[in-house]
Amino acid sequence: MDYDLSLVWLRRDLRLEDHQALSKACSESNRIAVIFVFDSQILGKLKSKSDPRVSFISDSIREIDNQLKKLGSGLIVLIGDPEVEVPKVAKKMKANAVFFNEDYEPSAKLRDNAVLKFLKEENIKGFSLKDHVIFSGPELNKSDGSPYKMYTPYKNAWLKRLTPSDYLPKKGDKRKFLASGNISSLPVIPRLEDLGFERSSILVRSHRPGRKNGVGCLNKWASGLPEYHKTRDFPGLSQGTSGLSVHLRFGTISIRECVRLCFKSPNRGTAIWLSELIWRDFYQMILDRYPYVVQGSFKRDCDKIVWEGSRANFKAWCEGRTGFPIVDAGMRQLNQTGWMHNRLRMITASFLVKDLLVDWRKGEAYFAEKLLDFDLAANNGGWQWCASTGCDAQPYFRIFNPVLQSKKFDPECKYIKQWVPELKSLSPSEIHCLSLGAPQQPIKSFKIGRDYPEPIVVHSHQKMRFLQMYKRGSN
Ligand code: FAD
Repeated sequence: MDYDLSLVWLRRDLRLEDHQALSKACSESNRIAVIFVFDSQILGKLKSKSDPRVSFISDSIREIDNQLKKLGSGLIVLIGDPEVEVPKVAKKMKANAVFFNEDYEPSAKLRDNAVLKFLKEENIKGFSLKDHVIFSGPELNKSDGSPYKMYTPYKNAWLKRLTPSDYLPKKGDKRKFLASGNISSLPVIPRLEDLGFERSSILVRSHRPGRKNGVGCLNKWASGLPEYHKTRDFPGLSQGTSGLSVHLRFGTISIRECVRLCFKSPNRGTAIWLSELIWRDFYQMILDRYPYVVQGSFKRDCDKIVWEGSRANFKAWCEGRTGFPIVDAGMRQLNQTGWMHNRLRMITASFLVKDLLVDWRKGEAYFAEKLLDFDLAANNGGWQWCASTGCDAQPYFRIFNPVLQSKKFDPECKYIKQWVPELKSLSPSEIHCLSLGAPQQPIKSFKIGRDYPEPIVVHSHQKMRFLQMYKRGSN
């Protein structure tokens, strides 16, 4: 063995199974201790003291601690700046090495490089390993060595390169966990209150925290997956998509487990779902290789666009009272549950940018604040796709018509009625057409403007304004 004692630092990979850093640490060390740091800088930036993501993390690490306790060990949980805390605890415990999994967000890369540097100064080895994706940025390049910018050739290269070894489980030897007696004064796991937070009331469907729930959700999804290609665009269906994004975000399940599921009994549904998992890798690669997308448009010329939208309309969008039922339903689902169906993310994002003429970065920031599954790479990629500012984005002249989207993807208005209950008494055709303005035929006991907001814009006008604004700005 190369190392007597190694630390495994958990971050966005909150599990002990199928875990690259843990597996590697086990194969190279006699004993392993597992640590987690509540990053005080990240916590300090969160706007809500009941942010559901903190509850999710807190519950997930508690589960890991219980798992470790059953094995005679325990999780070491710290609060502070990881750049200080990780080297400090490694030095204090006389660890020889620290293993962790790569994170492709620019701020995380800076942090990790700093940790590696401080470890080196203490003569402690540091290892950063690929776990979060199947292929990381530098592994898949175009033939000229440059990174891909288009999804389809990237996907083809991804599929061509994939072999079963890329999605085999990364196993670790659980007998190696350091006995709790050898961890001097094992700190008590902080409660939410100790972190200055309180429990969130948001706990929905598949977003229950922890590994056990993540695996449960994945197993349940196995029965819906074969039909994914038929169900994925219909938000009114209860299991049209996996609902696994929160678990993938926090690593309570691994990407390899998802890919393994696709190859268990391949069919049309698994092929389409796999292509969504490849979108995930694609956007991680884009963030890694083109980190400037965090601040600005992938197509740099688009940063010259002068956005004409108003604050009042942005506020109405955030609150789900635009007078466009499908948009309002999506935003209310987001506000109430911390999750939104992908079709709705596209509709609401397109509406903000191309109907309300608001800078996509404002919408991106709002999603970042609200989404339980918020992931910088996917969120930024999704917003830039919808705004036509991104790589391989929706062409700028393709503008979703909210009425047609509503008719096509929620024909019976099941989804709309769930989130906009004041429309429950209306027929689907009345609902779809509400955003066109006052109905030609009066609707019994329902008054637009009194019972539900009047549409705040006229889609056909705004479409023309957007086209002019985009062309003027991006040339
Ligand atoms: P499924 O349809 O079951 O897909 C399985 C998994 O594939 C997802 O869990 C996710 O990890 C991945 N995936 C699916 N679609 C995409 C995609 N287009 N891009 C990247 N990965 C994808 N996804 C996030 O995980 N976090 C975000 O912050 C996020 N923000 C988005 C913002 C906008 C404007 C848009 C249009 C999309 C965004 N997405 C984001 C992608 C997608 O909407 C969600 O991943 C999906 O809705 C999650 O639901 P699910 O787990 O049921 O997905």
